[in-house]
Amino acid sequence: MLKILAKLFRLSYVPLIAPSTSDARIETLGRIADSFIYVVSRMGVTGSSATGTLNAALPELCARVKKHAGANKPIAVGFGVATRDHFTSVSSIADGVVIGSKVINVVMEAPAGKAGAAIEEYCASILYEDPNENSIHKESKKDNTSIQNSSDNTIENGTNGVTPIKKSEDFILPSHFGEFGGQYVPESLFDCLIELEREFIKCKDSPEFWAEYESYYPYMGRPSQLQYADRLTEYAGGAKIWLKREDLNHTGSHKINNALGQVLIAKRLGKTHVIAETGAGQHGVATATACAKLNLSCTVYMGAEDVRRQALNVFRMKILGAKVVAVESGTKTLRDAVMEAMRVWVTQLDTTHYCIGSAIGPHPFPTIVRTFQSVIGRETRQQMQAAKNKLPDAIVACVGGGSNCVGMFSPFIEDKNVRLLGAEAGGDGVETLRHSATLSQGSKGVLHGVRTYLLQDRHGQVQDTHSVSAGLDYPGVGPELASWKDSGRAKFIAIDDTQCFEGFRILSEKEGIIPALESAHAVYAAIELAKTLDADKDIVVSLSGRGDKDVGTVAEMLPELGPKINWDLRF
Ligand SMILES: *Cc1c(COP(=O)(O)O)cnc(C)c1O
Repeated sequence: MLKILAKLFRLSYVPLIAPSTSDARIETLGRIADSFIYVVSRMGVTGSSATGTLNAALPELCARVKKHAGANKPIAVGFGVATRDHFTSVSSIADGVVIGSKVINVVMEAPAGKAGAAIEEYCASILYEDPNENSIHKESKKDNTSIQNSSDNTIENGTNGVTPIKKSEDFILPSHFGEFGGQYVPESLFDCLIELEREFIKCKDSPEFWAEYESYYPYMGRPSQLQYADRLTEYAGGAKIWLKREDLNHTGSHKINNALGQVLIAKRLGKTHVIAETGAGQHGVATATACAKLNLSCTVYMGAEDVRRQALNVFRMKILGAKVVAVESGTKTLRDAVMEAMRVWVTQLDTTHYCIGSAIGPHPFPTIVRTFQSVIGRETRQQMQAAKNKLPDAIVACVGGGSNCVGMFSPFIEDKNVRLLGAEAGGDGVETLRHSATLSQGSKGVLHGVRTYLLQDRHGQVQDTHSVSAGLDYPGVGPELASWKDSGRAKFIAIDDTQCFEGFRILSEKEGIIPALESAHAVYAAIELAKTLDADKDIVVSLSGRGDKDVGTVAEMLPELGPKINWDLRF
């Protein structure tokens, strides 16, 4: 696809090869490279390393690329090249040298109006032992034209037909849900995602793996109960409402279903370390728990703002033996934590598994998370059959990134008579900008390696989100949910903070269950839906988590939200 577009606009397609790229993939990339190959000298992100040293394995990497991509494909090396020393050693093993970040730094550090001169001086210091001796102007001009010409020639004369960038066998599982999904990731992650996919497929088809997973059911508290909520049903005055009690799982939410499964896969991959991102801390706690039980070390990335707001969960993770890293970049919330976890993962792929916490991220993560969370929907099916000898008429779940929702809905996708309703966080209201209603209000784009619906402005900048429930406060959503929205198979509505509080209060008062604020969105949506249906219909709500973690937030927000629903708990 990229290659076709490049050709159309008379651009050269330049693939990146990283130290983690496999020989087989180097061969493919060599075949489709139009002009040259960009070899990434080290794992990690761009950035000059004026004080650092080059990757000692670089000559070996270059030799490997030459061997598998074809000796006549020129290679240029970049990432971390900043000094004349770097430049001379790289040019002895490669056909070209790329200096990027350092140039930007030179421009940024130059006094106003002096950037051109600073660059000139910098280039001279790279090209010549004694920068004052040679005329850089002439030389660099010549260099420029030759680069221009050679790439022009390649495009004009290139006879290579358009080869698919990814061989079909690279994707063994479907990587897309309609137009959503995919892998929008740096080259360095590509082979690692394939490794993960291969291992996941082995596990998915292995009875021993599932026997091992299920051997932890007593530990997790599975199967979770499906309970008829008689007083809630009476209150709503319509269809019968049932609760799928994921709140009774070990660690207090559905997150453990996925965390335990992924940590088991990590173990099979021979990884010794697990990293995770977390927003409110529920996924961090679940991952830290699974790592403690399965004896892997664990680091959790958490936005600095969330670290402050969720101090109790940070302490729980530390008690469980995990390291918690506060992420200071951007909005210092969940989306920055995901970004940071991905960045760190690239630098330690050999030892580390990234345990993503929701049905988001590049393929195969959404499929892996769905597979482990679908235990919610599969159990619900069986339990409803056992109780009423039928399927539910409707199912309701809250939607953050979409893991409890996709887990609950996916086993019912083919049962067209089962209505599927997702409740997103409406925050202060969708007419304001302070909400997280990605599916109802968002547009299509790419975030965290996946194409899906996002909350973004018209320039494609991701918007700040808000919800009273930290677990729903995310600007993206799982790609499979995006496809269900477009196909109409599921419906998604926004429930605002005030309505969430009402759901929270009613479930607490009528059923004696304090729900997580996330789950309270689904409870409210279910009550409203029940009112519109007859008494012989059955609605199941995914009660994704318990509310102990939210009692502080409720106390804090009650002066603002309480009066709107006539709720006053002052002494
Ligand atoms: C994390 C969390 C959510 C939101 O995440 P999804 O991936 O959308 O399920 C919902 N409820 C609870 C209790 C959570 O902890």
